[in-house]
Amino acid sequence: MKNYSEKILSLEAKVLKGAGIDFKDGLFILDYPEEGIFELLASANRIRIEFKKNEVRLCSIINAKSGLCSEDCAFCAQSAHYDTGIKTYPMVHAETIIKEAKAALKNGAREFSVVTSGKGIKSAQDIERLIEAIRKIHEETPLESCTSPGILDDETLIALKDAGLHSFHHNLETSRSFFPNICSTHDYEDDVKVVRKAMDMGFHVCCGGIFGIGEEDIHRVELAHTLAELDVDSVPVNFLNPRPGTPLMDSDNLTPLKCLKIIALLRFMLPQKDIIVCGGREVNLKDMQPLIFAAGANGMMIGNYLTTNGRNVEDDLSMLRHLGLRSKGF
Ligand code: SF4
Repeated sequence: MKNYSEKILSLEAKVLKGAGIDFKDGLFILDYPEEGIFELLASANRIRIEFKKNEVRLCSIINAKSGLCSEDCAFCAQSAHYDTGIKTYPMVHAETIIKEAKAALKNGAREFSVVTSGKGIKSAQDIERLIEAIRKIHEETPLESCTSPGILDDETLIALKDAGLHSFHHNLETSRSFFPNICSTHDYEDDVKVVRKAMDMGFHVCCGGIFGIGEEDIHRVELAHTLAELDVDSVPVNFLNPRPGTPLMDSDNLTPLKCLKIIALLRFMLPQKDIIVCGGREVNLKDMQPLIFAAGANGMMIGNYLTTNGRNVEDDLSMLRHLGLRSKGF
């Protein structure tokens, strides 16, 4: 353990001085011995405090258009390729979205995202509803507005910017080399292009992935490396909650400690970015949820996820109070 302890402290010092860690160092973090987990967390926590202080960001989402997606992402209950029995519905009205946004604000969210299923939004009515919803969030609340609509044309992106859109969300899901194992209907580069375009347009870009979908440590480091290279602003971290009917319904690849190591990896590789723990937190972290902050996360999603329920918001807020963490206010 002595060698591990010395090495993790030297990596921490490197990161605190502003230097990056390499691929091998990333694998070292993911392979850290379980008996030394608190040493790893202590280092990740110091990096979090250095760059993010003791503040956490809370975000919430609405699933504004559910299911019937043309893509075949193997983890996703919204894909039309699988019989998952979820409730599907077309784009909801802007009024429904603003109502949810205001409820999220009351719960302490700082950011609110309008998420739609599908490769992109094409229908004029859906685009209109999205733009109207973003304008209302911008005008009627102090929330940072976000959307995750897939691929959009330039004209729509400009209209969203004019309506006050703050963040654009688009996950890469996993590493470039593992991606063909989970999706065959589009290329990784299509997703990278969307992210680059959103960055070029000056949006705050939220881009991360989902872990526990059969990938190995090497793919986790590869994804972290790609996100660092892209220089995205915020990294949402999802852990697989296997959905009945999907090809990954029987997957069980993660332990709570592995989840913590993945969060620590991201904090070491993207020290200045927001690391936000999202879907699958409850089922994968179990009673280790408070440790996500020691592992380096500085935010979490509260409320429900896209097709699954989240934890009771009051329990999450009480967890933050007990940890002495402040929610980043306006
Ligand atoms: S992850 Fe997104 S693109 Fe993939 S199937 Fe689900 S809704 Fe469609």
